[in-house]
Amino acid sequence: MNKILRFILALTEAVVKSIRLEGDSIVVGVRPYKSRQRRCPVCGRACEAYDGRSKPRRWRALDLGTAKCYLEYAPVRVACPDHGVHVESVPWARPKSRFTRPFEDWVAWMAVHCTMSAVARACRIEWHSVGGICKRVYDDLQQATGPARFDGIRRIGIDETSYKRGHRYLMVVVDHDRGRLIWAAEGWSKDVLRRFLKEELTREQRLGVEVVTADGCRWIRTLVKRWCPNAEWVMDPFHVVSWMNDALDGVRCEEWQAAKKAARAAAPKRERPGRPSAGDETPPEAVKLAEAAKAVKGTRFALVKGKENLTESQKAKLDKLKSVGSRLFRTWELKEDLRAVFQTGDAAEAERLLDDWLHRAAYCKIAKVVEVEKKVRRRRDDILRAVSLSISNARVESINNKIKVTVKMGYGFRNTDNLIALLMLRCSDAKPQLPWNRSVPVKKAA
Ligand SMILES: [Zn+2]
Repeated sequence: MNKILRFILALTEAVVKSIRLEGDSIVVGVRPYKSRQRRCPVCGRACEAYDGRSKPRRWRALDLGTAKCYLEYAPVRVACPDHGVHVESVPWARPKSRFTRPFEDWVAWMAVHCTMSAVARACRIEWHSVGGICKRVYDDLQQATGPARFDGIRRIGIDETSYKRGHRYLMVVVDHDRGRLIWAAEGWSKDVLRRFLKEELTREQRLGVEVVTADGCRWIRTLVKRWCPNAEWVMDPFHVVSWMNDALDGVRCEEWQAAKKAARAAAPKRERPGRPSAGDETPPEAVKLAEAAKAVKGTRFALVKGKENLTESQKAKLDKLKSVGSRLFRTWELKEDLRAVFQTGDAAEAERLLDDWLHRAAYCKIAKVVEVEKKVRRRRDDILRAVSLSISNARVESINNKIKVTVKMGYGFRNTDNLIALLMLRCSDAKPQLPWNRSVPVKKAA
């Protein structure tokens, strides 16, 4: 029985002492091997006990069938000469965790592959405690790879993403060749970027960087020049498209306000509320205006989405916009045409498309679009260089969307480090393993 339990719970370097049923849970009493006791959680060295045994603690383990399962053990506090007084480390769990290692691996895997609510329900834990689990699992993975995780990066993108409803910023660095996130940190400043370039990358890795894409910030350009002398700086295509998306949203708001106002002005004034009496129906032009206002309403997501990803109902919404012949539809067309510049892999074709776009945007008489046109014109050469270096906009867009979705998922986390850990687990190469994919050797019982 003892052996089977150790096998089921993937326990190594520990002995099963007891098992009992408590309510709807199974509690398994365990203790580490004598040789594995009184270890410092920081350095793993065997230390003197600081005081007597504490009260028994519990660690949530993988469920046994439908029952929750806990491991129970009363750890001692140890006094490490280097790290001070800590609760001893146990072989089945990461330091400071109330969950076992296999349980945490499983939760982290679920957090990468499922929605928030699915994770919380299937694992029967609160969503906010998933953050701490992700952090510990990610730290483990990161420690295993070390600085080698940045080996072979050639073309990177530096970008910012907002969280906490746009009050805080994260710096994210993506690998364009693999379409993966490689680094993220809190803040958007010179110091944060310098930390990545100077401290995270080795000298060889810095010299290997060939292309850096970013938005137009001058300080990024200066730092990149200083630390990655071989890198060419180009305009991030995703950013250019996002300017146009912002303009599109601005035009949508203007149109919606104007349409609402026009519809209200055209509607006949009625003395009394309720159903209109005979001969007092709304005139047809007012109905038409109301319909135009309705067409603008609820188009936000359809407008910013790429043409190829639209659902049927979103397509219908755009068709309606087209039929009323609005400014908004023209702005949307210009946004899609700008995206097309980055979708063609051919440099000459891109140049032709971009110049054509600049011409049309300059004469479109939509103030917000003209603003973007000026910005794009100033960076025309940087943009074309991005195309000739074949930085795939689709890949950049997809990783950025994935980052945004994950940031939204992590809203419930109290700690930014936990959010970053979730981000890395979902968008980088550091993939959590399912506990049964890890080969855990079960040693003979002591
Ligand atoms: Zn220590």
